[in-house]
Formats: sequence, structure tokens, C-alpha cells
Amino acid sequence: ELQEKNSSVRYYTQEDASLESKWESFLTLAYTSELSEIVAGFPNIRSVYVDFSDLDKFDPDLASAVLEDPDRALDAASRIIKKTYPLTFGGLKDELHVRITSLPNDVKIPISHIRTCHLGDLISVEGIIRKSTAVKPYITESVYQCRICGNKIHIIQDDARKYTEPTECPRSEDGCGKAGAKNFKLLYKETAFLDNQKIEIQEAPDSVRSGAQPASIIAYLDDDAVGSVTAGDRVTLNGILRAEHKSQAMTPQCDLYLDVLSVETQQDVYEEIEITDDDIAEIKTISQSPTLYKDLVASVSTTICGYDVEKLALVLQLFGGVPKTLDDGSRVRGDIHILLIGDPGVAKSQMLRYIAKMSPRGIYASGKSSTSAGLCATAVKDDFGEGRWTLEAGALVLADQGNACIDEMDKMRDEDRSSMHEAMESQTISIAKAGITAQLNSRASVLGAANPKFGRFEDTIPFSEQIDMPPALLSRFDLIFVIIDKPDEARDRSTSTHIISTHRRGSARQQRNDLEGVDLQKILNDTETLKPVYDRQIMRKYIAYAKNIFPVLTDKAADLIQDAYMKIRQQGYGNNSSVPITARQLEAYIRLAEASARARLSNIATEEDAQRAISLIEYYLQKIAGQ
Ligand code: ADP
Ligand code: MG
Repeated sequence: ELQEKNSSVRYYTQEDASLESKWESFLTLAYTSELSEIVAGFPNIRSVYVDFSDLDKFDPDLASAVLEDPDRALDAASRIIKKTYPLTFGGLKDELHVRITSLPNDVKIPISHIRTCHLGDLISVEGIIRKSTAVKPYITESVYQCRICGNKIHIIQDDARKYTEPTECPRSEDGCGKAGAKNFKLLYKETAFLDNQKIEIQEAPDSVRSGAQPASIIAYLDDDAVGSVTAGDRVTLNGILRAEHKSQAMTPQCDLYLDVLSVETQQDVYEEIEITDDDIAEIKTISQSPTLYKDLVASVSTTICGYDVEKLALVLQLFGGVPKTLDDGSRVRGDIHILLIGDPGVAKSQMLRYIAKMSPRGIYASGKSSTSAGLCATAVKDDFGEGRWTLEAGALVLADQGNACIDEMDKMRDEDRSSMHEAMESQTISIAKAGITAQLNSRASVLGAANPKFGRFEDTIPFSEQIDMPPALLSRFDLIFVIIDKPDEARDRSTSTHIISTHRRGSARQQRNDLEGVDLQKILNDTETLKPVYDRQIMRKYIAYAKNIFPVLTDKAADLIQDAYMKIRQQGYGNNSSVPITARQLEAYIRLAEASARARLSNIATEEDAQRAISLIEYYLQKIAGQ
């Protein structure tokens, strides 16, 4: 009975034989060079990567067999390669794989749509790697020796989640027949190993319905596929969906996981957004508008009244400055970081949420972050890693190449505070802990919101002293807006009118019946101005398109910026205060001017752009200094 369970002999049918011969013709006719690479490159090269469309063109039957019963079809593939080239090296025995890439669209399944009906299927999922463990080997075939008779017992460990040990020395294999687990020792030299890595992939934040918790799924990489991804990567995983029932579990409930065949990395964010020729035409028309900046501002959170300067800054942040690599190889960020610090109830959170949705890769997170990864990243040893260290990406890594909107930043944890320094300036996060050393990308623009030291601004103390954040962190923000909520007749009137209109419009849009004393149509007409000039969809495309423009400052613009910077340094804004003016602020001018040029799709950052940057910086400095 034992032998039957652990036997390496399997029975292959006619169908398996026919699959093998199909693979043989495909590989020898269409993938000759790939096949010879494996032979020449073994043990470093152990996989043949097969583009699904090649297979489909060559042999549609085989291609559909791969989709319908991937385990069987791919087993046949590696069998035929192993038969042709029996290769062995160290702990690796005949580990040759056929890995399918570029799966057709109809097997691309959003993670949140994965169901039982996909079990055993070859599917393709897209998302961002949230967790990845250290790489560790596991045993694929153990070789035991009986201490009594010296007989060797081979056990194929084909269940990746369960380990089988010999219980007796089988007579049928010339053994002594004695039972007892203690009688056997594992022969490491003859045992075959395979590397393995566990990861968790999560739906990309921008594809998640707003407010919904992003769905995620566990995946395993093995052998030469390990180490190809790390937390924070945006990837497509192609693999076979499986269910696992924990042997000790008290319920019939199972966990799903993906057995990964191949990984495809997505590089550019802005390729994720589809921009058609019609869109480009519309984008170009928008960029010519004489009221462009005003319209862009009016498209950023229309439900919020006022804050036109702050909103202009947020618009420029969405476009960003030009990231640069200097001649010495160092990198200067193009991302603009903005901090909104103000009294409660002034719509800070609302602005953050809006920008998170508008940005092509936006994330909204709270400083009091609920996840263990916090804002940056952590390495933890918990259940997920099954005894291994796991690297887990936080908000700033997940928002790589997008906007990280971090609310309640003053309540941030201490670990986050220190990694935030690195994340905001060099735009990487380094982790060196136990088995894991990694550097993750965090090329995100940070939009932070915080309350002042005492909850709200006190009149009697200078504002700059009420900003409860270390100067090193503050100096990384390009703009810091102080928002004070003091009763002000004119402002209160316009804000309240605005909020009331927003609410009335919102209810009127849902009301189907005529009401006595209420003219629904009039309400809708009167509040037409609350509609954004450009909707979110076209704004996102516009921003994505503009990111491919790399404006250069003109001589005059450069001079203007230099003069402005010299002036604020002389005036000593922020002297003796927690808001320092350093050379970082000079870079802020440049980034803002570049962003302003990008916003109108211009390759040249002119004096007008420089002036826009200067006004923003002077506006914020005056607000911090003034009372
Ligand atoms: P904060 O995060 O600054 O404490 P919130 O963003 O939670 O404040 O805003 C509180 C509420 O007040 C929100 O419903 C918001 O819409 C409203 N609100 C405050 N100021 C404005 C404004 N200027 N325009 C429109 N709504 C506002
Ligand atoms: Mg808030």
C-alpha cells in the first residue's frame, strides 16, 4: 500500500503520449534555439519560456489542451524534454520546465473574480506584490536509508504542502520489512531540492472600486522562477489555480493559491492607461485652452469650496517635475511633496481622497495605518512566511510612480517616521533585517495631511512652532500649506452656500418624483457649476500623457527662480522656526515650474511657469510666517 502511494511510477494514457509527441514537434520545430539554450545553459537555465500565441499558431489543439488541463499538458512537456535530455546537477534532478507566457485575454481574471470554477485552470492575474518571503529550498524527492538493512527508500514529495516520511522498510523493494520512523535517516546528498518562495499579490489600487478592500491571492514560485519578484512590483502572474485544505483544519474550508508558471513585469505606469487617438486629440485641445490652469483647478475636487491656490498646487503635483539622473549617477526626484496642515474639518481628508482617485496610481492611507507594513515596508516573521521572513510593502511602495496620500501624518508611527525620510528624498526604502535585505522603490509624490500640535492652531503662538514634525521631515516637502479655520463672514457664506448646494444637488439627482415647493430642475441647473470642467477619466489620461513630456527651463526662467530663492534666503523666512529654507526649496521651484510646463504639454518651462512656482512658494511661506 505504501509503495503504491509513494511510487514514482505513474500510468500514462494514450492521450499523454499524444501530448508528448505534439510537444516534441512544437519544441523541435518552433523552439529549437530555446531548447538548445536549456541544454547548453543547464543548470543555470532550466526553463523554456513559451509564448502562448506561438503555441496557438503552431498547434491550436495543444494550446487548448494547455488551457484546459495545464497540469497534464505541462507534465507531458517536461517529460519529453527530460527524456530527450536527462540532465542532473547537485540537488537538482531533471528540473526542466516549460513556462507559458502571454496568456490570452479570456484567461486574465481579476483577483476579486477568482472562483471555484477556475480551479485547476491556467489563469493570468495582474496586480502588485504585497508580500514576498525569503527563498528557501524544499524537498521534491527524499532518499532515506534504513539503519537496519541499509536499503534506500525514495519518496517523491509531490504535495508541496505535506511531507511524507517512511514508516517501514518495504520488503517489496528488498527491504527488511521493519517498521518504525526512527529507523531511517535522510541522505541529503541524494535528496532532490527545489527553491520556493511564497508571495501575495493584490489587485492594483487603481483598478479597485473606490472604497472596496483590494482582493489578494497567495502564490508560490518555484525553482528558477524564485527571486524574480519582490514586494512592490507590478506584475502579471501566469499560473495554475489550486485549492489547499490544511490537514489539521476542522472545517472543509480551503485556501486558494496560484502555482506560478511565469511572471511578466509591468514597467511603465502610464502604459496601463489606455490613451486612444481620439483621447490625444482631446488632450491637445484641452492644452490649448486659454483658461487651462483655472479649468484644471476647477476639475480637482469641485465639491470643495475655495482653496484655489492649494488646488493649483495639487494639480501641479499630479503632473510632477522631471526626475533626473545626474552625470555622477545620482538621481534627483521629480515628484512634488505637499503637506496640508490645518484645523480639523477644513476638508483636508476630502482633498486627499480626491487626489488619490485622480492620480493614475493613487493610494489613500492613514498615518495611524492599520496594516502591519505601515507606510513604508517591514520585514516580519509571521504565519504567512511559514517560518520564513516576509517582506511586506506599505503605502509608499504600493503608490510607486503615483501619489501617496497620507492622512493624519502627525500620528505616524516612529518606524515610519524614520523610513519616511529616505522614502521621500531618495525614493527608495531599504530593509535589512534577518534573512532579508531589499531596496524597494517608492517613487511616489506624497500628499500629507496633519493637524497642528494642539489639535488646532492657537492664535498666540507662531504657526511655525505649532507644526509638530521634525525639521528633517518638513524640509522634504516642497510646499506646506497652513489652513486655519477662523470664522470669516465672506468665506463662511461662500463655503456654506457651496456645501448646501452640493447636498441639494446630490439629493435632487436621486429624486424621481415631482415635489411640492421644490423645483428639482432649477436646483440641478443652478448647481451645474459643481460639475468638474474635465471629468476624472480624461484628467487621468491627460496627466498620464503629460508625464512623457520633459520640459527644460529657459535662461530667463532660471534667473527668475534664482532671484526668488536668494530673496527668501535673505529674508530668512523660517529662521528659528521649524520650517527651514534649504537648497531643497530651490529644487522645489524647479519642480513646480517644470510641472507647470507639463500641465500645458510644453517642452519649455518659461518665465510664466517660473512665476507660477514662485507665487505658490511665497504664498505658503507668507501663510506660515503670518498670523
Ligand atoms: P479634515 O480632514 O480637514 O478634518 P474633512 O475632509 O473630514 O476635514 O472635512 C469635513 C467635512 O467638511 C467634509 O464633509 C467636507 O466636505 C466639509 N468641508 C469642510 N470645508 C469645506 C469646503 N471648503 N468646501 C466643501 N466642504 C467642506
Ligand atoms: Mg481628516
